[in-house]
Amino acid sequence: MPRLFCACCGRPFERSSTRGPSPLYCSADCRRQMAVRRRAWTRADLIGPLTLAQPGGRDAERAPGHGRYAA
Ligand SMILES: [Zn+2]
Repeated sequence: MPRLFCACCGRPFERSSTRGPSPLYCSADCRRQMAVRRRAWTRADLIGPLTLAQPGGRDAERAPGHGRYAA
């Protein structure tokens, strides 16, 4: 069995099966943890700065138009 190192915690582990692509993580727990991390990174890259820059921006946009139509 070839020895692999977990991409999450770095622990060495042995792959249980030689079929299919080699696993990156020592356990399902590590795989889940990396999925969560990657999602957090992606979100921060895409919308993180923009979202933080304008809290409550939607309400400020809608207020003037609503007032005009209501009058
Ligand atoms: Zn691991």
